[in-house]
Amino acid sequence: MTTSETGLDRVLGAKTGEALESSLGLSTVGDLLRHYPRRYAERGELTAIAGLELDEHVTVLAKVDRVSKRSMRSRRGTIVEARITDGHRSLTCTFFNQAWRERELLPGRQGMFAGKVTAYRGSFQLSHPEYQLFDSDDPERAGSAVEEFAGALIPVYPSAQGLPSWSIARCVRQVLDTWDGADDPLPAELRAEHRLLGLGTALRKIHRPKDHAEVAAAQNRLKWDEALAVQLVLARLRESAHENPAPACPRREDGLLADFDGRLPFQLTAGQAEIGTEIAADLAAEQPMNRLVQGEVGSGKTVVALRGMLQVVDAGRQAAMLAPTEVLAAQHARSLAELLGDLSTAGELGAPERATRITLLTGSLPAAARKKALLEAASGEAGIVVGTHALIQDRVSFADLGLVVVDEQHRFGVEQRDALRARGGSESAPHVLVMTATPIPRTVAMTVYGDLETSALRELPSGRSPISTSVVPVAEKPAWLDRAWQRIREEVAAGHQVYVVCPRIGDDEQNPPKKGKKKPSTDDGVEEPEDAGAGTDERRPPLAVLDVAERLSGGPLSGLRLGVLHGRLAADDKDAVMRAFAAGELDVLVATTVVEVGVNVPNATVMVIMDADRFGVSQLHQLRGRVGRGSAPGLCLLVSEAMAGTSTRDRLDAVASTTDGFELARLDLELRREGDVLGAAQSGRRSGLKMLSLLRDEDVIAEARDAAQRYVAEDPSLRAHPGLARMVGEVVDEGRAGYLEKS
Ligand code: ADP
Ligand code: MG
Repeated sequence: MTTSETGLDRVLGAKTGEALESSLGLSTVGDLLRHYPRRYAERGELTAIAGLELDEHVTVLAKVDRVSKRSMRSRRGTIVEARITDGHRSLTCTFFNQAWRERELLPGRQGMFAGKVTAYRGSFQLSHPEYQLFDSDDPERAGSAVEEFAGALIPVYPSAQGLPSWSIARCVRQVLDTWDGADDPLPAELRAEHRLLGLGTALRKIHRPKDHAEVAAAQNRLKWDEALAVQLVLARLRESAHENPAPACPRREDGLLADFDGRLPFQLTAGQAEIGTEIAADLAAEQPMNRLVQGEVGSGKTVVALRGMLQVVDAGRQAAMLAPTEVLAAQHARSLAELLGDLSTAGELGAPERATRITLLTGSLPAAARKKALLEAASGEAGIVVGTHALIQDRVSFADLGLVVVDEQHRFGVEQRDALRARGGSESAPHVLVMTATPIPRTVAMTVYGDLETSALRELPSGRSPISTSVVPVAEKPAWLDRAWQRIREEVAAGHQVYVVCPRIGDDEQNPPKKGKKKPSTDDGVEEPEDAGAGTDERRPPLAVLDVAERLSGGPLSGLRLGVLHGRLAADDKDAVMRAFAAGELDVLVATTVVEVGVNVPNATVMVIMDADRFGVSQLHQLRGRVGRGSAPGLCLLVSEAMAGTSTRDRLDAVASTTDGFELARLDLELRREGDVLGAAQSGRRSGLKMLSLLRDEDVIAEARDAAQRYVAEDPSLRAHPGLARMVGEVVDEGRAGYLEKS
């Protein structure tokens, strides 16, 4: 009996089982059946070669155009070169010392060719591709292709070296021949309501469809599984959050908040006021607030958070604010203190009666200062504690923690939020306010942040200046870069300041930049850009802060005051550099993404991003938000070697095309590869969103959310629906709930 749990080696033999396991991570029948075709090809319909990406492992349907054989000059042996075509563009397949290929790859023949795309002398090629001809005379080589695909759609699978798509198709067929089907986890009434295929039928059709309508029906059902599993987990998180009591912090008319509002130097934007009202009501309630505020860079989230914190302090409790980096935490502490003025000087001479105290607590404080900070948190002397992750990891205790504000959610996971909730000091769980500057499309908000209520700050405070963004394509127009440095000298001459951002710190021999997934230093946040997956080994290492700073100060920017900022500097040094830049004592700051979030120097007008293609879209958007914060217009230059027409360049052009973060988030979603949104951990794994597209499947996601809400409200433990409970269990077992948030 073959079930989804049966090992592939039992059905397909040890050798094939081993190959599937090692190259694609598939070990059970269920794994293989959930390894869905990436697309479907039809005989006679050739794959567009222009759309192929360098370094990708591809499967193309193409026709042999011509074939030639020559002998190699340097070594003894022959090269067979077969040019294959889609009718417009061609691709060269090369084979060394396999002269017999020439007799097989006859012009006019069609087949599937699989291999890694490389570039050689300016044109694309496949080196030693595997192939399967549809109309070969040799039954040994063509037989299975014909039998496999005759008349039907040809599934094209995500494949690997040594395991071409057609071998996977053969394995799937063998498995389906003996498979006994699966228990359908979805309740029958839900399937009927949404006209969903049964699970077994859907899995068979997705692999061996008769036509496109069957593909669509199967996909719809399988999307539902993915959407519903995630929404059930989120619905349960929301449900359990409501079970905890929270410290009610009703608003007072005569407290610190009222004093603060009375002396705000500006008027709140309509959005700030509206979200402020929502937060005030949430904080007054006896259930914990779980709210996500998303707002453009510079939309004024800090004030919103501070007003919430003051309401909590007014209620006699404490608030904690967490930032992703030490630089940011220090800066938050400073700007909160600035906003509050003498209202934050409790304990000092002449402080107003209602004043509170802001305490900075980071991992790198000297022992004495740290002890003092810990004491202030524990005694309740500190009304507001600002810190980094250290606040969570260490055993910080609070006298009475009422509210946790998490700035820049995309660096925080669910577990971290949970850890903080447990720090409350009292029996109850504190309110949580999460802020992100990365605008989130509705579908992503529903899927990734579905356990939070969301509010959006869409307008910027008045008096902001526009930012214009240009791509500097150094491969095509090297002179533009010289012009860029010239422009920077002019900006500095006009009294402004400039950021130059690089993807890497440099000088890291013991730690060479590799594509390996080493954990990035938290302070630099130099993440692999979304599309720097496999096959980047041949690219030069990304530009580094230390090298670029040296080159600039000895060359195009000589004579200007340059500072360097990155995560390997000691915390004091970082702080000193940031202060010097803020005080205008430096003209140019060469930095890593340390400056990505929150840094606020209104006099900075230009941001140059080197190797911009190594950053993700939202990172670029965040980075550029550092300029245009004062009265002068901002300029952002995206320097890149990416050629026009590549998807890498498309991303940069998208960033240059709009400063509307919400629009950009949508474009980003469109440009990213399927499944990327939820992070690298998805690919090749059994769970994860393989079929569901956060971009196109808004309807499914919304319907699944409603259904999940309904089932969980009726029956929180899902006892009546063991299938649904199993779906939840799978997500939770694999820790997906955690990494859902780490995108
Ligand atoms: P972000 O949302 O990126 O965290 P900040 O909270 O850092 O933005 O705000 C950016 C700047 O805008 C700060 O200097 C802040 O004082 C200022 N600001 C916030 N709200 C307003 C407002 N309503 N009017 C004018 N300036 C504002
Ligand atoms: Mg901010």
